[in-house]
Amino acid sequence: TKKSNRSPAIIIHNKLTMASFADAARFLLLTAVGIAGNPSTADAASASPVSGWRSDLDWAALTSKLSSSASLIDTSLDDYTDECMPEFSEPSPTTHALIDQPSGMCLPHLLLGWEMSWPRPSENHHMDQPYVQAYFDLFGLDPTADFESWMSDPTNPSLNLPSKVLFPTVASDVVAAVNFAKDNGLEISVKNSGHSYQGASSKKNTLLLNMNRYTHYAPTGITDCDASILGSTVTEDLSNQPCLLSLAKNKSSLIRVGGGENFDKVYRAVIAANEEEGYKYHLVGGYAGTVSPMGWSWQGGLGGSTGGRLYGFGVDQVVQLEMVLPNGVHVKFGPTDWEDASAEGFTVPRTKVVSGVCRSNPDEHDEENWVWQSCPEDFDIDFNDMWFAVRGGGGGTWGVVTSVYLQLHDYLPFKSYLFNNPPFRTEKCTAIFPQFAEFVAHYMSAPSLLNVTKERSHACGSPDPRAGIYCHGEEDVMQAWTRFLDLNNSTDPANVACLFSSDKLASHYNLPAPPGYAEFMISFSKNDLFPGKVLDGSPPSKIGAPVAGVLVPQSWLDEGEENRKTLQENGTPYYYAFGGAAASGSDQANSLSQAHRNAAFMAYFSDDYFWGNLFPKMFDISDKTKFPPVFGSNHAGFLTAGPLKEDWTKPCPREWTFEERREKCISFQEAIYGTERLARLEAIKKAVDPQFIFNCVNCVGNNLPEASKSEDDEPSPAEAEPLLGNSSDETSGASFVSSF
Ligand SMILES: Cc1cc2nc3c(=O)[nH]c(=O)nc-3n(C[C@H](O)[C@H](O)[C@H](O)COP(=O)(O)OP(=O)(O)OC[C@H]3O[C@@H](n4cnc5c(N)ncnc54)[C@H](O)[C@@H]3O)c2cc1C
Repeated sequence: TKKSNRSPAIIIHNKLTMASFADAARFLLLTAVGIAGNPSTADAASASPVSGWRSDLDWAALTSKLSSSASLIDTSLDDYTDECMPEFSEPSPTTHALIDQPSGMCLPHLLLGWEMSWPRPSENHHMDQPYVQAYFDLFGLDPTADFESWMSDPTNPSLNLPSKVLFPTVASDVVAAVNFAKDNGLEISVKNSGHSYQGASSKKNTLLLNMNRYTHYAPTGITDCDASILGSTVTEDLSNQPCLLSLAKNKSSLIRVGGGENFDKVYRAVIAANEEEGYKYHLVGGYAGTVSPMGWSWQGGLGGSTGGRLYGFGVDQVVQLEMVLPNGVHVKFGPTDWEDASAEGFTVPRTKVVSGVCRSNPDEHDEENWVWQSCPEDFDIDFNDMWFAVRGGGGGTWGVVTSVYLQLHDYLPFKSYLFNNPPFRTEKCTAIFPQFAEFVAHYMSAPSLLNVTKERSHACGSPDPRAGIYCHGEEDVMQAWTRFLDLNNSTDPANVACLFSSDKLASHYNLPAPPGYAEFMISFSKNDLFPGKVLDGSPPSKIGAPVAGVLVPQSWLDEGEENRKTLQENGTPYYYAFGGAAASGSDQANSLSQAHRNAAFMAYFSDDYFWGNLFPKMFDISDKTKFPPVFGSNHAGFLTAGPLKEDWTKPCPREWTFEERREKCISFQEAIYGTERLARLEAIKKAVDPQFIFNCVNCVGNNLPEASKSEDDEPSPAEAEPLLGNSSDETSGASFVSSF
């Protein structure tokens, strides 16, 4: 049902991730665009699945295969206007209110409903028109720009919303949808929260699979592994594989999470288990409750607030994957052979072999009756490739993840530290924020300068010093802060008090000290509509962060204190989720770029300054055939691009048309993965999805010539691939690089 009488949320914890760019853009748009529709009363379930977009297709054939709880609906711009837009005009908008809207179309960044977040009334355009430039430069928005009529025009060619949405609830629904898409030459988009800053979850002329109603496994999904099985062989159906791998990684428990469960749901499942059994579990996850472990993990997954520097990135938490692949086959797979890699400095075993099984009764809805068997002989997808590609190569492009086993860690006591936050905010503290930012930089990436050990430093992370420092286990943040002020001759107790712990905050509000990060996010956000839910982090905004953060190499920082000073003078607050286990926790069989592993932190710079000054110093660009990976994947916005192909010290001009930018600039993908890793990912993409059924915006393969279909392309069912197997001549990506 659609919400009404929306009550404002009261948020005490009010510091947000992401640069001020997005906040300021949001402010401008809120005041200048001001579009709001009235909630519609249409019941989504009553919409007919056989009308509307591609009514030439036999949609009834699809619905006949769906489970009784799945639904396939027609959607339109009206739904977006009625259900999603009003939230952006609320005094305290929240993504929690958007994700359960009936059409399943809402996006936390409203303008992502149009290509490049730019609702221009033409197919291709550029950013040089005065109002657009101003819009992105934050100097203001030209009141003559006719945003309102562009955004209400259902024929606007830049509109990027799907016209059909399927809510699968079991894996067989996903199998049916993928086979239907394959047989009819359709593309599929996959969505959870819609948080992707690149807008990868939503696309016009696709069948959108909104995963929010998919089976929830987390509430009963925690398994304590029996240590006595260590050394056993992996069973043929892979049922003991998640525990065997976890135990090999010195972890004794894990959680199964469904392909549509967000962190709010997963964190709360872990809290419930902790409350029942005594605190013993810890999950590495994202900052916001509304972010899902799907997009988050597949893009890397920075655990700045949840112990990522102690336990690794999101990709490092995965022990088994269950997916429906682009060929329509329901599979599960994970490492079945590994070896110790501690001599090379890794804290987890190196994956040697990945094995998988296929479900032989894909039409069966009831999981109790699923049968997992060896894959048929003509199934030519390499599970080593899939394990590599999915974990780091982004969501939405390798198929649909239906569930995943994530490792859990032993519980450690939690404390967060907030600088100059309400209710203890003072002007004096505002004035010393630059010193605090310098302190955090040292604590995280040069702790010895503060007499802090690396181990203590790794206990803490921070998505943004303005959002706080989050620590798990032994740390000495308060002592180090006092020491830092001492060294800088500013020992005034009022300065020391600018930093305070979550315990102090709790006692101020007569609340118990939060035992974990998620509890902290629940107890310090009061929300009349969504009591008990984990805060959505940054609230929805009309436009999300457009650019990407640079992964600043630790080795470059270590060259000298002057490099750190250069950054302080020219960068924005940094994202600290790197180093420690984030550097050493790789199984060496994932596609997360090496830049993530080598980084000290992620920072934002102006285009000109970065490419012209810092890039040649920070990264090895001696080989002009190999562009290095530069940007953080999770936060890469829709306008992300590398420099000019012909001169890597020059940014890609925003005044160029999108077409020109695509042609003459290093692509979004190459700037994330680097030339070499991207080549392997593209080879795998062509092998597993030769029809480009999964072709999300800025995802691997999306910019390949083979991926572009003309609007009129309507391949006939006769051209479809067989159910199992891959008729392409393209060799599997495994042959491209034979080992990890
Ligand atoms: C408020 C906020 C807080 C954030 N905090 C963090 C943080 O702490 N750390 C961090 O690293 N990043 C963070 N991010 C960035 C986040 O990682 C990305 O936005 C990510 O894309 C979100 O994934 P999602 O599944 O929630 O979103 P979606 O936009 O729904 O999906 C993202 C991608 O995953 C695909 N996908 C979704 N579900 C599936 C599935 N079941 N199978 C296959 N593909 C799927 C989609 O097609 C899309 O390509 C944050 C973003 C926001 C807006």
